[in-house]
Amino acid sequence: MLSVEPIKAYTDNYIWLVSTNEGSIVVDPGESKEILNLIDTNEIDLKGVLITHHHYDHTNGLLDLTNKMNLEVYGPEKIEGINNIVNESDKFSLIGIDFEVIEIPGHTLDHLAFYSSNNEDPILFCGDTLFAGGCGRVFEGTFEQMFMSLKKISKYPKETKVFCGHEYTLSNLKFALEVDKDNKDLMNEFNNIEKLISSDIPSLPTNLNKELKLNPFLRCHDIDIKNKVIEKFDIIDDELQIFTALRKWKDNF
Ligand SMILES: [Zn+2]
Repeated sequence: MLSVEPIKAYTDNYIWLVSTNEGSIVVDPGESKEILNLIDTNEIDLKGVLITHHHYDHTNGLLDLTNKMNLEVYGPEKIEGINNIVNESDKFSLIGIDFEVIEIPGHTLDHLAFYSSNNEDPILFCGDTLFAGGCGRVFEGTFEQMFMSLKKISKYPKETKVFCGHEYTLSNLKFALEVDKDNKDLMNEFNNIEKLISSDIPSLPTNLNKELKLNPFLRCHDIDIKNKVIEKFDIIDDELQIFTALRKWKDNF
């Protein structure tokens, strides 16, 4: 039995708390207070941590946790507190879950995702790379790296549940509708998510099946999206160029 619960941090971050009968792990502890509370009240038996990338809002709580107890911490190199540096295709097991490491540079150069297929629906923790209805900003890598990273993720099984690092869904879908206004799936999803958010219910996880139908950053081959972007930015019909123009458009949206 596996459960994944969100812990809210900062204004819109999610720390993911993953539990099985063997204990718990957290993904991207940007803050430690709530996790320490759960440990002190014996609500969780924390065994490990996964880190997707070096940004402070995903790592700032890590040392508070490792100073308190021995933990298996998996993540990219050059981050204090990580004792298992992992790279592309590495495999490891924590609390009875088998994880696979996927390198997905673009948002940062060190960005990783963690994938597991060993439960009913596969799960993916992808930090600030794929968001529900959108994708992360390109800070350190190239647009091509981000584009390839999203393609890489989108090839995993369609039923994969996707746990992203932020609650950005509603604003992402607003932008998506601007780009792809005749997409019925997208309109329905916008209405659903608007209700959830107004009731303060997390919009995540999403899944790859849904994202392939409504996330414009995974749909740069779609004829309507292509035409819209080519017309607006006067670029050639090339998927990477469409993606790049779309990401820059969203940066200023
Ligand atoms: Zn980030």
